[in-house]
Amino acid sequence: MATFELVAECRETGARAGVLHTAHGDIKTPVFMPVGTQATVKGLTQRDLAEDLDVRVLLANTYHLFLRPGHEAIRRMGGLHRFMSWPRAILTDSGGYQVFSLSGLRKITDDGVTFQSHLNGDRHVFTPESTVDVQLALGSDIMMVLDECPEYPVSHEYARESMERTVAWARTGYAHYRRRTAETAAAQSLFPIVQGSMFPDLRRACTEQLVALEADGYAVGGLSVGEPRPLSLEMVEATGPILPRERPRYAMGVGMPEELPEYVARGIDMMDCVLPSRNARNGYLFTTQGRVIIKHTRYKEDQRPVDEHCGCYTCRNHSRAYLRHLYQAGEILYAALATRHNLTRYLDIMRQIRHAIVLGQFPKYLKAVRAVPVEVE
Ligand SMILES: [Zn+2]
Repeated sequence: MATFELVAECRETGARAGVLHTAHGDIKTPVFMPVGTQATVKGLTQRDLAEDLDVRVLLANTYHLFLRPGHEAIRRMGGLHRFMSWPRAILTDSGGYQVFSLSGLRKITDDGVTFQSHLNGDRHVFTPESTVDVQLALGSDIMMVLDECPEYPVSHEYARESMERTVAWARTGYAHYRRRTAETAAAQSLFPIVQGSMFPDLRRACTEQLVALEADGYAVGGLSVGEPRPLSLEMVEATGPILPRERPRYAMGVGMPEELPEYVARGIDMMDCVLPSRNARNGYLFTTQGRVIIKHTRYKEDQRPVDEHCGCYTCRNHSRAYLRHLYQAGEILYAALATRHNLTRYLDIMRQIRHAIVLGQFPKYLKAVRAVPVEVE
């Protein structure tokens, strides 16, 4: 079971520093969790992640692992930690988000969601109970309940109906989880997910009902679905005062580097996003001075590292010119080096945020990072 310990709180904002204790090690929060969709962070080895980047927790996607190689196969291989040889913590999503992105290939009822595999068209059903069973088989430290993530925008009427379904699924999923873990004494936690689209009243109503489950932690979902960014932050603000102070809070699928401190300022302890790895592969590198678009001709003979203030392997050994060359040539090494740098940047931001909170200097830090331009000048 994941337990949370608050270490420091900012007096001016909602920022918190803490430690999340899991069966696979301690995680200092606020934390950014790299995404390992198919039980791998694309382009990096587990040794890179653990030893060089000091990643304490990874996210894996239930939908993908359910379809291939299958959760029962992973269970027979000793669980996901052993299968992928990752000794530290793992968080899995419920698979709901991926299924809901398959518009046209899925059908929602009050019992769950029927969908067709994007791989071969096979029909499957996810229910609040089955998604708990799949994640128990994977053996993740933190599991998520099945939720409905509505697209943006939707009507208040649909958002309410969808939110009520998410709450009902959370109750069903939780009851099932309690029964299953009573039999197995599994050290796995289950987090419910706050939904309610972009309506603060629905977000509050959802949070109030989920808090009654007395979960080990809570997630805020349905963000970064195309809404303007101030709205996503407002939705997090709506939940903050209702969520229990002594439990971790996870904002799912966020965000850009400049957004990380903004979520932390609103009481978020955990985040995940494909952006650092996906953008790395697409040629976008995040630095302390803004974003570097590596394909630009201006970097053709640039001997400087991607970021002079970064201590990652890529920046210690390679120039922008070399990275640009690898990118242009479509070399595999480019993805590995670029991903390593971008993830280091994200993890560095989280370490700096935590340090600032512990020292009581988070408001000053926030002011300074808000002044950094998005693109390198
Ligand atoms: Zn670097």
